[in-house]
Amino acid sequence: MPINRPLACTTAALAALAAGCAPAATVRQAPPAAAQAGAETYSAPAVLPLRFTAQPTVPQITPRDLMSRLYTIADDSMMGRQAGHRGNYMATEYIAAEFRRMGLEPAGENGTFFQTIPLTITRLAPGAALSVDGAALRLGNDWVPLPHLETRFTYVPRMQLRDAPVVFGGRLGGAMISDAQAAGKVVVMLPPIVGGAVNYRVWLVPQPELPSAAAIVVPSVDISSQSLRNLPFAQSSGLTEPGRIPTRGPAGVLVTAEAARRMLGADPATLQPGAAGRARVSGAFDYAPRAVEAPARNVVAILRGSDPAVNRQYVGISAHNDHEGIADRAVDHDSTVAYNTVMRPQGANDPVGTPTPEQWARIRALRERLSADGTRMDSIYNGADDDGSGTAALLEIAEAMATARTRPRRSILFISHTAEESGLLGAEHFTENPTVPRDSIVAVLNMDMVGHGRAEEVRGGGPYSIQMIGSRRLSTELGDLIDALNARRTPPMVPDYSWDAAGHPANRYCRSDHFMYARFGIPITYFSLGYHPHYHMVTDEPQYIDYDHTARVASFLHDIALEVANRPARLVVDGPRQDPNAPCRQ
Ligand SMILES: [Zn+2]
Repeated sequence: MPINRPLACTTAALAALAAGCAPAATVRQAPPAAAQAGAETYSAPAVLPLRFTAQPTVPQITPRDLMSRLYTIADDSMMGRQAGHRGNYMATEYIAAEFRRMGLEPAGENGTFFQTIPLTITRLAPGAALSVDGAALRLGNDWVPLPHLETRFTYVPRMQLRDAPVVFGGRLGGAMISDAQAAGKVVVMLPPIVGGAVNYRVWLVPQPELPSAAAIVVPSVDISSQSLRNLPFAQSSGLTEPGRIPTRGPAGVLVTAEAARRMLGADPATLQPGAAGRARVSGAFDYAPRAVEAPARNVVAILRGSDPAVNRQYVGISAHNDHEGIADRAVDHDSTVAYNTVMRPQGANDPVGTPTPEQWARIRALRERLSADGTRMDSIYNGADDDGSGTAALLEIAEAMATARTRPRRSILFISHTAEESGLLGAEHFTENPTVPRDSIVAVLNMDMVGHGRAEEVRGGGPYSIQMIGSRRLSTELGDLIDALNARRTPPMVPDYSWDAAGHPANRYCRSDHFMYARFGIPITYFSLGYHPHYHMVTDEPQYIDYDHTARVASFLHDIALEVANRPARLVVDGPRQDPNAPCRQ
């Protein structure tokens, strides 16, 4: 793709074209100030290149520095930074080198910046199959074998069924049959009801004590997210040494409502727990655990506070350094952008749909515009926004604080988590094996996806938009502090608290690393700019990021962290505490 293809135009053009107006007119993003320095690279309208050579950074938080960092972190050579793989290892080397260059204190293990997590990787072994009365079900469409039923790797299920009888077991989290009734059978259980609604996240409720069941089958594929349906084709990870995973307990399988009806011979909603099924089920699958390719590491550093009375207290700032790695097959980059812009405005959060003729026309027009200069096949999940943007912002904040003339009173703990995409595993491990006393962490400000906030690509977006989740859940003072600080800013950020609503279906309070701190009663706030067509797509690349907006977010967090660190008194925790091992509930 030639360098002079107008990016901002690209994104703006997608929505603009969808809205039927000429792209040029819709370019809103002013070129990053620093970019003007490289006038030869950035002619108006703003153009962001496919490649960008990192420049020496300056002490201040700038869009140009963010570009230097993000084009490094999200480059193809990082291979999508999947935890347990070389790409993630290389990214953590870069982050630690930057912390070292800034003169921060190592806060990992053994005097290093690193904390290696015990990670096990599993992938579905070839040959997985499931059939009902001899009729095969389609993997990923009709059925999805689960790598584990609980939130943690307590065991790796292996399933071996030969003409197994079926029984209706009841509803997960509700009335159900006994283990004796389940013995040797395929137990069909309805999905749990959470917050008054049926929820496909079967792990949100304690698992049924049916150790003798041959398998637990839940008819929830139809209501599951795309990423869950992709599970059989993706890597799953767990926080356990490979050799130490017991293989006990029933396998967990998700199926479509239709498949469950065929197993039972009736609609499960019409049955009483214990009702015998009509069909016989056969099949097998195995999630073979294996060792990681490269250590998965959290990277942790301290900016020591100036006041000895409180500099053993820490304000945490965090982001995650991993992403999804490399896809099983390459796709046409521009077609993916065009299709998702029209059909999946929230990327992988939205289901794959069949476009109407009118939608096809828009997709084709976008595709033509985007790839006027040829096709680019793509298979790398670069994770520029998720969470390369948070990682770049974390480094910019650290650099600004480390080079400032004065230090805050309390210390700042910079935590770059690994394995967030694998289930918040890096944060889970750090909070269970903290390298500073856990109760000395007074708050955690977590950034995940702070690179796309344009009005045309994000619900409620705009140049100063910021989504905030959890700021008052454990400490009203934290939420008040953030709003009061923002009110003093010119111009202020425009907060969107809508995602923080109790029971919100997106469940974002539970979907990033901050939750692992909140479960121990540490006040947190989750900062994001939101979902967009590139979310968990191979198209999540650095040239689409709004660096001015990311710089605003980084400055905002910088100021909030200083305010918390300099407070006379430690934030008061006045919110309800939970059992740290209980499943998360928004
Ligand atoms: Zn993320």
